[in-house]
Amino acid sequence: MRVEVIIAAGGIGRRFGKGQPKQFCLVEGKPILSWSIGRFEECVLVDRIILAVPGGMAKYTRQHVLSPFGYKKVKTVVEGGKERRDSVLQGLNMLETDTDTVLVHDGVRPIVSEELIRKVIQATQRWEAVVPGLPVRETMKEVGRDNLVSRTLDRKRIYLIQTPQGFKKDLICRAYAQVRKRGWQANDDAGLVEKLGAKVKMIPGEETNIKITSPQDLVVSELFLGDRI
Ligand code: C5P
Repeated sequence: MRVEVIIAAGGIGRRFGKGQPKQFCLVEGKPILSWSIGRFEECVLVDRIILAVPGGMAKYTRQHVLSPFGYKKVKTVVEGGKERRDSVLQGLNMLETDTDTVLVHDGVRPIVSEELIRKVIQATQRWEAVVPGLPVRETMKEVGRDNLVSRTLDRKRIYLIQTPQGFKKDLICRAYAQVRKRGWQANDDAGLVEKLGAKVKMIPGEETNIKITSPQDLVVSELFLGDRI
């Protein structure tokens, strides 16, 4: 088994980034993206990491995200594209021929555990496509025009899906070939695989594996990464 990880960090959202994309913001003195890479670096089942970063930021990434931390598994830094799927596609183009398992992870999920990474890799050997998910706690309603509720969803069947998502290489490459050829879109990588008609297995995700999207998330990540909770 040879495992490669594509870390999608090609977004340019600068909402709270002091003028820089949020994956480069420092948490406890270390860029968010470096924290994310570190979790995969620690996992013995991971052979190689491919980073997709915003256009023009490959050199910056090598200087500020990689060099200070001495990561050994990051072999390739590619410049991503306009949408997340364009960035993942750039990463997929760089896979080694002998790789059979591919994980795709959001660069802005720095608190993923080594244990979850291992579980995703192991489950992928059996299921071919695997996503971590959390049950929803709140009531879910579909809301239509004029903010009128159209229906209440069956909460027992709804999960919040995280990354890393794991795939057999052939499957994810076949799904992304349709992105290239037919412009397929989906909210996540597994969504593309579902469109092919393949089965996707959900395994338990982690409450702490948050995606940093707001300044509040940054505060929470400081607490976890700083070992204060
Ligand atoms: O925008 P969103 O929150 O969905 O981004 C999730 C991850 O995808 C982030 O780590 C972001 O950097 C990455 N991304 C990317 N290329 C883009 C847009 C987002 O790799 N063009």
